[in-house]
Amino acid sequence: MVFLEGRARRAQVFELSHDVVCAAIGECKCTEKVVHNLVLNKHTGEKRMVEKRVLCAPSLTVLFKRRSRVDEAALSLPAIQRAIKARRLRVVRS
Ligand SMILES: [Zn+2]
Repeated sequence: MVFLEGRARRAQVFELSHDVVCAAIGECKCTEKVVHNLVLNKHTGEKRMVEKRVLCAPSLTVLFKRRSRVDEAALSLPAIQRAIKARRLRVVRS
């Protein structure tokens, strides 16, 4: 199992990627959000609300001195790699 341990004295939030993380675990952990857009019909000048569904990738919160379990694939995400290099995160395997 892989864990990420927070080394920064604050909570760090990382956005996980659907293409990377959901694909690796074979299950989509994204949440679907419904957004409403106001669309103007240029011909009639009429405005109407259009409902659109967007996928929100799950996020990972790592707290100081706490370990959060992650999938191995999450380690390849650029934001997480940068945090590891900057020693804001430590990888713990068990
Ligand atoms: Zn997903």
